[in-house]
Amino acid sequence: MTEEKVTPKLDYLHSLIRRLERSQWCAQCDDLVEMLTPLEAAHLAEASLVSIYCWVKAKTIHYKFVSDGSLSVCAKSLPREPTTQRLCSSVK
Ligand SMILES: [Zn+2]
Repeated sequence: MTEEKVTPKLDYLHSLIRRLERSQWCAQCDDLVEMLTPLEAAHLAEASLVSIYCWVKAKTIHYKFVSDGSLSVCAKSLPREPTTQRLCSSVK
């Protein structure tokens, strides 16, 4: 096997390992999912950090507090549709 063929597989393995390291059990999904920091979640959902905390408060997205007290957000539960994202504006 040449080095050219090995490198893409190693890249894939490294990305897989990174995802596994960040994976946690989400009780709501009943699945192993990638858990994100609020900032990462905001970036992924193309939303503001305020929206993320708003969705947490409204229980629109799955979240949990980790041992150090910081918030982890379930990547799978993030809204993908812009219309869903607007729901946040109705939460006071
Ligand atoms: Zn979840």
